[in-house]
Amino acid sequence: MKPVDILETSIEYLKGVGPARAAVLKKELGIFTFNNLLHHFPFRYVDRSKFYKISEINSDALYVQLKGKIIHFQKIGKPRSERLIAILQDDTGETELVWFKGIKWIIDKIILNDEYIVFGKPAIFNNKYNFPHPEIEAVSSENIDLGEQLQPFYPSTEKLKAKGLDSKGLSKIMRNLLVQAKGFIPETLSVPILDRMRFIPREEAMISVHFPPDEDILDKARIRLKFEELFFIQIRLLKLKLLRTEKIKGHKFSIVGSFLNNFYKNNLPFELTNAQKKVIREIRADIGSGKQMNRLLQGDVGSGKTLVALMSMLIALDNGFQACLMAPTEILASQHFNTISRMVEGLGVQVDLLTGSTKAKQRRELHKLLQSGELHILIGTHALIEENVRFGNLGLVVIDEQHRFGVEQRAKLWKKNVIPPHVLVMTATPIPRTLAMTLYGDLDISVIDELPPGRKTIKTVHYFDKDRLKVFGFLKKQIATGRQVYFVYPLINESEKLDLKFLMDGFEGITREFPLPDYAVSMVHGQLHVKDKDFEMQRFIKGETQIMVATTVIEVGVDIPNASVMVIENAERFGLSQLHQLRGRVGRGADQSYCILMTGYKLTGEARQRLQTMVRTTDGFEIAEVDLKLRGPGDLQGTQQSGILDLKIADIIKDEKILKVSRDIASGLLSEDPHLELAKNLPVLKQLHFLNKNKPNWSLIS
Ligand code: ADP
Ligand code: MG
Repeated sequence: MKPVDILETSIEYLKGVGPARAAVLKKELGIFTFNNLLHHFPFRYVDRSKFYKISEINSDALYVQLKGKIIHFQKIGKPRSERLIAILQDDTGETELVWFKGIKWIIDKIILNDEYIVFGKPAIFNNKYNFPHPEIEAVSSENIDLGEQLQPFYPSTEKLKAKGLDSKGLSKIMRNLLVQAKGFIPETLSVPILDRMRFIPREEAMISVHFPPDEDILDKARIRLKFEELFFIQIRLLKLKLLRTEKIKGHKFSIVGSFLNNFYKNNLPFELTNAQKKVIREIRADIGSGKQMNRLLQGDVGSGKTLVALMSMLIALDNGFQACLMAPTEILASQHFNTISRMVEGLGVQVDLLTGSTKAKQRRELHKLLQSGELHILIGTHALIEENVRFGNLGLVVIDEQHRFGVEQRAKLWKKNVIPPHVLVMTATPIPRTLAMTLYGDLDISVIDELPPGRKTIKTVHYFDKDRLKVFGFLKKQIATGRQVYFVYPLINESEKLDLKFLMDGFEGITREFPLPDYAVSMVHGQLHVKDKDFEMQRFIKGETQIMVATTVIEVGVDIPNASVMVIENAERFGLSQLHQLRGRVGRGADQSYCILMTGYKLTGEARQRLQTMVRTTDGFEIAEVDLKLRGPGDLQGTQQSGILDLKIADIIKDEKILKVSRDIASGLLSEDPHLELAKNLPVLKQLHFLNKNKPNWSLIS
């Protein structure tokens, strides 16, 4: 076997593994090769050289190691729910050890008044510390390994444990792996980077991260491995960007013609904000450069992204191209259609709408106009990316509320023209900088960081259900001044029927409290026919109804400036970014707006934090940061499918500094040596090939 291949050996051939364990390792942890196992890192280390006294136990300690005698033990409880309690004593006191399972085995092992080393995590029970399911070993026992100071703890699963691969079992096979792989773990960073960052060699880092001789070396090993992980993500993203700018030509939109000029002179209903102006300049520079634009436009809800999209589309039209705008829901698509049709009135711009519910006859007509180029702007849902929708000359694609679209869907749009159209992706989900750098590292980013003038900050309050009457009273006053109100109910997902009942009950209560003829209430939910949905929306938009009762279908993008109160029922069931999106439906006009979060009394700590955050701030970026901290990046919308955040050792929040350095170094390296042709960069090139071979899908991200 060639030395370099050792790490690619199938895991079943590792000493101590074999086919049965290999099958579970593959299934449970995705470990197929030696190399995969090498990257299964400990999540914690415990100093096994240190012993605690029983009197020193406190709740801060995660794991402690004690030495003492077991002076008493006893089975208690009924046969099926029995437990074993043993009393451990040292010269400072006594504590309880408890087992619920494997009792017989422990009883056989214990000899009263012999010395044991006990290792476990203290819990509090009846105001006292105890140790549920500790490890115990007789002091005389040969098999305690005190050679290592820091014992690694590996993530494992029930199924792995059943095959003897608990943390200890994993640690054993890891040792076998390192014995076999020693000398064959290749360096992946160039010498200049190693020197500059004062990194230890990769092999040493790998060995030390699994079996650290001391804290100091462990730190060095971890930093080096985190850097490496983030560095290669950046190299790949930046290479992707490079490829695009070098190889892929884009349409050159060099002129500003009558569409945009006339719009600007005659139709623009307000002054652009400075942020809008800045972003339009950035977009113009991109699309005028002859390279293909791939730009992410971030802007908080209500910051006026639609207008930016429209003006960009008009530039495409001025240059003889068509444009399309894709939205995630029919409601939003038809709203965009209405807004944009209104805004371009009198300019001779042909706009049409295509959604899942467009009739076949209409569709045929539309296809014709689209291919002949007579239709200028097509707005729609993902119906736009269907195979049979063909443009005569598509120049610009705008995707609104990007997180609802998968990477593949985006890729399909690219193929709608020989020269790929420019792509503008708009999102209101603020993404923390670190995440954006990783998730969208290959896109250029523009930010609208300013709201249109005259907006008042939305007042947000949290009420308990028992305050409902007070809330209703407040709503009546608001409605009396001409304002409109949303009531939003969560989708609980367990059963659509139940969700609907929940909504219906709410609707009934509200119509009872707000009866005809003084009040009219609209209702919209996912199971309504599109026609009915539209009808109800239109009634609300026209002001024929004062109250809109809805599920989260209302969440994205809907813009009705006169609606100034958002009541969110069961607000504890919503995630932070969803709450922020919902709140963004109000505060769009000049009136003072309100967001009322309704909950019961029973709240988890995390739910409470979410509510407090909402009450405290309306800053989307701050909310995104809290969200990231509460949930971790894996849960953020849109991150899962990308696969980028499948990080083994780095942490996108905690390792922000390392991430920045890795990006700087990666971009420095590529600007000196874009194709990694220099001899010194050979290790980087090799690792890149290796990664691309193992994760080809990754390069789909665009
Ligand atoms: P979002 O960024 O959430 O998509 P919209 O594009 O829906 O925001 O804009 C929100 C509201 O602000 C709309 O009613 C829009 O007409 C209005 N608006 C946009 N730009 C400006 C501006 N420069 N001045 C005043 N109002 C604006
Ligand atoms: Mg919008």
